[in-house]
Amino acid sequence: CVSPSTQRIEQVYEQVVSRNPGEHEFHQAVREVFDSLTRVLSRHPEYVEASILERICEPERQIIFRIPWIDDEGTVHINRGFRVQYNSALGPYKGGLRFHPSVLLGTVKFLGFEQIFKNALTGLPIGGGKGGSDFDPKGRSDAEIMRFCQSFMTEAYRHLGDRVDVPAGDIGVGRRAIGYLFGQYKRISNRYEAGVLTGKGITWGGSLVRTEATGYGTVYFTEHMLSTRGSSFDGAKVLVSGSGNVAIYAIEKVTELGGTVVGASDSGGSVYDPDGIDLELLREVKEVRRARISEYADQRPSAQYLDARQVWAVAEKTPVDVALPCATQNELDEHDAATLIASGVKAVAEGANMPTTPEAIRALRESGVLFGPGKAANAGGVATSALEMQQNAIRDSWSFEYTEQRLSEIMENIHTRCADTADEYGIPGDYVAGANIAGFTQVADAMIAQGV
Ligand code: GLU
Repeated sequence: CVSPSTQRIEQVYEQVVSRNPGEHEFHQAVREVFDSLTRVLSRHPEYVEASILERICEPERQIIFRIPWIDDEGTVHINRGFRVQYNSALGPYKGGLRFHPSVLLGTVKFLGFEQIFKNALTGLPIGGGKGGSDFDPKGRSDAEIMRFCQSFMTEAYRHLGDRVDVPAGDIGVGRRAIGYLFGQYKRISNRYEAGVLTGKGITWGGSLVRTEATGYGTVYFTEHMLSTRGSSFDGAKVLVSGSGNVAIYAIEKVTELGGTVVGASDSGGSVYDPDGIDLELLREVKEVRRARISEYADQRPSAQYLDARQVWAVAEKTPVDVALPCATQNELDEHDAATLIASGVKAVAEGANMPTTPEAIRALRESGVLFGPGKAANAGGVATSALEMQQNAIRDSWSFEYTEQRLSEIMENIHTRCADTADEYGIPGDYVAGANIAGFTQVADAMIAQGV
């Protein structure tokens, strides 16, 4: 027989699907959270009475706007901009901007929905939001990126503010774009409002460790998961997908902790490097030359070049202890999970947002693999953004050591909170449920306290 909580969850889920047609990634993100909530609703009838499920799925505000800009040849382009201000129960909307040709409203909604719970887990006062555009920064000149960012902000600025909504970077938005966005906000508003954006340059209001934070945090979280089984990164073989900001600093931290990263990738290809990824060369290729990862393979005798979706297949060539998907959504499927399981993987943690498909998560969990969901594992980035906002608010800047110490404490707390919540609900070791329940209950309680 189906419990009333399950019935309610299914009812609301159906409503979400029919009100948001075709937004599959958004449906997937909602489904994943809802699957953790049956026991929560049975324990907390007040959430049902206050229609929290329905309310939490509907963004408080969704903004869609036109972004006209002119390329270096004088051609006019039109892109679409989005900002989804999802939930402000815990603080100003907070979350990154993604510039990628695949970005649709549904993409931003899935990311914004995840962000609500991730931000709650940090324990810092930030609500959830996300934004972006279908603009493709690849191959564009600095001047083109600048004109695009200025046009984006010309519209977006009226919806932002250090107490309203605070964007940061995500895929396709790094420090360069944040600089152009900030410059335009300052020009239009005539205010040096440092806390309106995070991920700023260190000399103009940015925080040390913000660049490293997502990658480092993912590794800290994984280290805590491993320690529950008496294991660690020391001597571990690790696969990291991606070669952007998250992947690069995950690789750095794994290496620092005594692990060897034997694979990395970008959207065009993958590399298997049994000697361990040469981080200096990878950074030179990806960050300085902004080139394809195939150039890494060309220059590194020990490396083998593989197809894009082959990064997890490295686990067929060598046993892998830990996998860190740090590229993009749904990049690790059931087939990849089977490869990793056969290779003896002990832990998988998501540096990217929703990189593992639901079927892959199920397979990993059923095989007893430790699984750290992105909401928890990659929360170090946004947590350090909140530390940047703190520094901006008190017009201070903290040392690298102090900021990294704060980040590492936050990641430890997130791990403890997820593990304790899973224990409390009788599902020990289930970090997915632990993260979803801990994040959800905090936001739900705040929403109830603040009234309908
Ligand atoms: N884009 C990052 C995330 O997915 C960081 C957001 C932020 O710093 O606001 O959490």
